[in-house]
Amino acid sequence: MSIATVNQGSVYRFSAETTDGEGNMKALLGGKGAGLAVMAQLGVPVPPGFTIPTSACRHYLKHKRLPDELKKAINAAVAWLEEKQRQRFGGAEQPLLVSVRSGAAISMPGMMDTILNVGLSEANVEGLAAAGGGLRFALDSYRRLIQMFGAVVLQVPKAHFDEILVRVKREHGVEFDFELKEDALRTVIAGYKACVLHHAHRPFPEDAREQLLMATEAVFQSWTNTRAQHYRRMYNIPEEAGTAVTVQAMVFGNSGMDSGTGVGFTRNPITGDPAIFGEFLPNAQGEDIVAGIRTPLPLSELAKTTPAVDEQLRLITKRLEKHLHDVQDFEFTVQRGELFLLQTRTAKRSAISALRCAVDMAHEGLISRTEALQRLKPEQVNEILSPQLDLSDVDVAPVTRGLPASPGSAVGQIALTADRAVSMAGKHRETPVILVRQETVADDIHGMEASVGFLTAHGGATSHAAVVARGMGKCCITGAHAIVVNEQERTVKIGELLLREGDWLSLDGLSGRVFACKVPLRAGSLHNAMLHEFLGWAKCVSVTPIRANADTPEDAERARRAGATGIGLCRTEHMFFARERLEWIRAMILTEDPDQRREALNHLLPMQKSDFASLFRSMDGLPVTIRLIDPPLHEFLPRLEEVDERLRRACQRGLHVGEITALEQLRERTRDLQETNPMMGHRGCRLGITHPEIIAMQVRAILEAAIAVQRKGVRTVPEIMVPLVAGVGEIRAMRKLVVETAETVFAELRQSTPYKFGAMIELPRAAVCAGSIAKEVDFLSFGTNDLTQMTFGFSRDDARKYLDAYIEAGILKKDPFITIDREGVGALMQMAIERARESNPEIKIGVCGEHGGDPESIEFLETLDLDYVSCSPARIPAAQLALAHTAIAGAAHAATVVQMETRQETLVIAM
Ligand code: PEP
Ligand code: MG
Repeated sequence: MSIATVNQGSVYRFSAETTDGEGNMKALLGGKGAGLAVMAQLGVPVPPGFTIPTSACRHYLKHKRLPDELKKAINAAVAWLEEKQRQRFGGAEQPLLVSVRSGAAISMPGMMDTILNVGLSEANVEGLAAAGGGLRFALDSYRRLIQMFGAVVLQVPKAHFDEILVRVKREHGVEFDFELKEDALRTVIAGYKACVLHHAHRPFPEDAREQLLMATEAVFQSWTNTRAQHYRRMYNIPEEAGTAVTVQAMVFGNSGMDSGTGVGFTRNPITGDPAIFGEFLPNAQGEDIVAGIRTPLPLSELAKTTPAVDEQLRLITKRLEKHLHDVQDFEFTVQRGELFLLQTRTAKRSAISALRCAVDMAHEGLISRTEALQRLKPEQVNEILSPQLDLSDVDVAPVTRGLPASPGSAVGQIALTADRAVSMAGKHRETPVILVRQETVADDIHGMEASVGFLTAHGGATSHAAVVARGMGKCCITGAHAIVVNEQERTVKIGELLLREGDWLSLDGLSGRVFACKVPLRAGSLHNAMLHEFLGWAKCVSVTPIRANADTPEDAERARRAGATGIGLCRTEHMFFARERLEWIRAMILTEDPDQRREALNHLLPMQKSDFASLFRSMDGLPVTIRLIDPPLHEFLPRLEEVDERLRRACQRGLHVGEITALEQLRERTRDLQETNPMMGHRGCRLGITHPEIIAMQVRAILEAAIAVQRKGVRTVPEIMVPLVAGVGEIRAMRKLVVETAETVFAELRQSTPYKFGAMIELPRAAVCAGSIAKEVDFLSFGTNDLTQMTFGFSRDDARKYLDAYIEAGILKKDPFITIDREGVGALMQMAIERARESNPEIKIGVCGEHGGDPESIEFLETLDLDYVSCSPARIPAAQLALAHTAIAGAAHAATVVQMETRQETLVIAM
């Protein structure tokens, strides 16, 4: 049989002498077929066979029949295999048996079907017995074929076969399948055949060729089963790809104690340890390992039982890894002391293992650093960094789910108010506490600081609770609508479940799952040194620098360690939420008297100044963007109901008139400041227009701090940023205020400092007017959280109530607060950038909304030619890797990649 004849019929043979396929033909041959082709070419011992390509699957699924050409090619390939094995397919003596296995281009483990022992029949079962394995082995192989064929090809529910097997085992007084003797197996076979006839309305086919064609069709059809479809949806595998079918001569690991079967990995898929890892079972077939009837031995035991096989296996698999440049997951069988490899494919591995393997392989020179970077997904970096719930030994189901707003895990006792969280956590935070709130408000910040994680009924991924949580690097689940918090009763209801303050809760910040118990945690940052090295490579490759959204020196330090090249957003209002400051900011808001207001601001000035000085010191030499106050003033005041309650109690207790008057004033002012729609209310640069003295104080604090630290040798050029600008009129007014304040400060200190002035683009109008705004500023930064909110008209705090329905109905593909909406928000950004650069070619443009830390959004942001992206420190590592991936994908020709590699070699990575 010539290769050409077989290829015309489109099947691809593999054997030690003849291999039609190539390793790079995965799309056509599937992972299994391509792996076998490679092994055969390398001279690795594989049982010979042939692969029916995915194109045949596509044809079959369309026409519901195998083409005649293909049937001819299969027959020809079978004849070739018979000659090679010196056996006859369906022959009475020494019959040739084959396995018929599925194998897609992207591995879909366990999703499709496989049938073993094809070719066996009533007529040759004795022949198989005589060929070496004995009658028990032959009968057992036959009953396995009828069962697999019946279930997969003839669609007889597997439970019917199980019932028969259980009944016969009971009748013969045995517990395990392998204890069944020959007569019992004959009873099972007779029962199986009757079962097939009854349920499939046809006898079990005894003709080998008919079995083979029917098995092939069934494996093709298994591409469309429900679990395979689900798997494809999860991993975005194209529906039309189809599976290949590999037909391979059977070898038997159940031929005695010098035989066996095993599975293994060239490196540990859980830890990444660079040593062969796996298990094997002497005198057994592949499915016995999976069935778990007998406990397999660790692969290391192979060295004791059959040292020659062990050595050969190690050499072969190492060679395969070297040749294929990746960790291999292999299957092998030993038949009477002779080793055969049945399969090799890229190993699936945990995030930690993926990291270790990638870094080690780059060091070993097996792959380039650029390739190593592509071996990890950005989400896997998050997985490595955050402590994980260890669900391996506990059998619990989540009680509800919310939006995974900040990664990590948290296990703690429920606290229902911020004050309770602080008291329950204890002075030294000895008790882990999870703050559970209907929604969090700015007032809760101290409780958030004391807690290990947060769970809220309302809110989305960019509500302030989530932003703060990410800033703190703490796990946060928002929008868990099923929970109802009752502060008075100190209970949380989740459907029928009633939890009390103090009960244990576990949060999985990666999936949004909530467990009503104490799930153990396992450390997530074991490989820090390795991760730092890896991220150092990512930083070298990335084109766009990454900055951090950081409000405190601790955040700034963390961001710097994570590789941030500056601060892209310091939300100054977070600095006011600390207890002793809240008092002064409240005093400033509450008074109508300009002198009293000035006094309050004078108290705040040194505090802000010292905050900024610390930030500048932490980021010495790197840019720091400080945003002027943004939220509506009422956020700094207590809630109206709370003031009412205090007033009621004060009256009851007969407090001093002066104190009652003060409380009445507080209530009056709180009511005055209340807004129906605060997110579109008196906030952002509007505050600067109505309360210029607050802005003047902040600008003074920034510039005085900069000059003070510069005098001590710190290098800093502050960037002052105005939030929520709608047009050029506002930015001109703010610029005048900033410039005048700066001149006053410089005159007083008799020293000046360079600084930059910029605006946030977070309103659609600002995007449209970016051309005129750009003329007034040195830089622009997109606040994509608000820009999304204002473009869609979706509230960032409440949209979850309907966003799920939008996504389910396919109206939106993704939550636009998590992944940037390219069509709407993205288009506005593109337009704004074009207009801004046209009117001010020197302008710097960045992004500081949370999309800057979202790997999928980064893919788009990279196309905008930005000067930086900025996100919470906790998101920097994953974002850094996403930036590297985009840069690598964008490096269209090899020369750029080579350049990148060279850059990596020469750059010293300081992390
Ligand atoms: C934004 O709106 O994207 C932004 C960065 O500001 P904030 O989240 O503080 O409103
Ligand atoms: Mg904003």
